[in-house]
Amino acid sequence: MSNLIQLMYISRATFKPTPAVQGIEPNVARILQSSRINNAKVDVGGVLFYGNGHFFQCLEGDKAAVHTLLERLHRDDRHTDVKVVSEKPVHVRRFDDWSMKYTAINDSIKTLMGKFGFKSFDPFQFDAQHFEALIDALEKMNQPDDVIDGNNPKQSSKKSSSRADKERSGLITMGIVALILIAGVILVTQLL
Ligand code: FAD
Repeated sequence: MSNLIQLMYISRATFKPTPAVQGIEPNVARILQSSRINNAKVDVGGVLFYGNGHFFQCLEGDKAAVHTLLERLHRDDRHTDVKVVSEKPVHVRRFDDWSMKYTAINDSIKTLMGKFGFKSFDPFQFDAQHFEALIDALEKMNQPDDVIDGNNPKQSSKKSSSRADKERSGLITMGIVALILIAGVILVTQLL
């Protein structure tokens, strides 16, 4: 029987933000790097969001693995006031492609905050509906400007790169078909 769960928590960053390097705050980049290595080993995935000195993270994976990680998270002094806002069993993962997707504050999130009536990203003011809207927005973000790959910042997500791959192979197929047609036409005109 599957013990897949989804757990969401919020926290306050304790570090003083330093200027972003290639679109990502350096402390967050280090967190993301170790997260991706560790999470891949235990098949935990999800999304991490950092903005206005706050973290929001959604973790998906086996209940025991997620809880082990949560214990480490509580001990990590790079953030404080760790508060679990939701934990539930799930059948499917929303962030299947990611050992840890990362998104920083961007126009979509600013628009969402405006809709909620908040001036900045402060998840400690959120209710359950706000979290659902946030997770929906984070799930949809696949554009290069929205999603930052910690190892290769500003790259598009796996989903958008596979879409690009499909488009490229589609163009190649069309080119081959066009060449065959032209060759056929030349052959026919020479035979006549
Ligand atoms: P370690 O070897 O103890 O640490 C790994 C690296 O992290 C080391 O290079 C070390 O320099 C650095 N590090 C650890 N603690 C600190 C610190 N206090 N200050 C500066 N650098 C430090 N971990 C995950 O595995 N998956 C996650 O999804 C995840 N999400 C996180 C989200 C947030 C908001 C934060 C703050 C941390 C998150 N972490 C996550 C990190 C987690 O709290 C642990 O630090 C990490 O899992 C321990 O990794 P490790 O076993 O490799 O231990």
